[in-house]
Amino acid sequence: MPRYKRVLLKLSGEVLAGDSRFGLDFDAMRRVGTELAEVHRAGVELCMVVGGGNMLRGRDVEKLGIERAQADYMGMLGTVVNALGLQDVLEKLGVPTRVQTAIEMRAVAEPYIRRRALRHMEKGRVVIFAAGTGSPFFSTDTTAALRAAEMNADCMVKGTKVDGIYDRDPSAYKDAKFLSRVTYSEALRDGIEVMDASAFSLCRENRIPILVLNVRSQGTLVSALVKGERIGTIVEEEETE
Ligand code: UDP
Repeated sequence: MPRYKRVLLKLSGEVLAGDSRFGLDFDAMRRVGTELAEVHRAGVELCMVVGGGNMLRGRDVEKLGIERAQADYMGMLGTVVNALGLQDVLEKLGVPTRVQTAIEMRAVAEPYIRRRALRHMEKGRVVIFAAGTGSPFFSTDTTAALRAAEMNADCMVKGTKVDGIYDRDPSAYKDAKFLSRVTYSEALRDGIEVMDASAFSLCRENRIPILVLNVRSQGTLVSALVKGERIGTIVEEEETE
């Protein structure tokens, strides 16, 4: 039996870019896609929020003299490009998918409709949410927390390039300690940088555990979500200590 019945996976743009900082690395996407296909075959209901940092980030574009809201809309459109790429990769691996966008563009994807997304998952389709929340000044992490709550997900997986959460930056400190479990309050108090504060708060309010996993290391998604191995860092409630 898989550990979770329904999972929302947040895939940041940098995961889709592989070793590059920008653009799409389709080989890297196929590697993640192959694992997702296995998780899906094991019966886990899956939905995803894709980021867009590999295309552009609103705050970076703002520095170039573009109005922030406009820059954020540009960022959101970047996530749609990512979602369509990921959709093709997954479909070729035999996974039925639907893309839903928070900014309507019916020629390429469905608009976001909560009940329809739930129905897709019940029917065994993987739903890919794109265009963030549809509003500027938010992040795709916050989108992921929001959709995880709307989809009644049992867990939100934050797919990153690091193994989980450390007590300090492991790239700067050799003695950084790996934390296998963190409470929401610790994450907020210590300003842990894996996700923004509004995403953490939304998950805490809705009691959705966050599993931080290195999706670049082979087998992690299957080990954590299908075999139930305790890898990565889990962020959850205080009471369960
Ligand atoms: N964005 C936004 N509203 C949202 C989600 C995203 O305006 O609800 C914009 C924002 O400019 C952000 C960009 O889309 O920088 C890409 O998303 P994000 O930086 O979260 O991507 P990631 O870091 O996960 O790749």
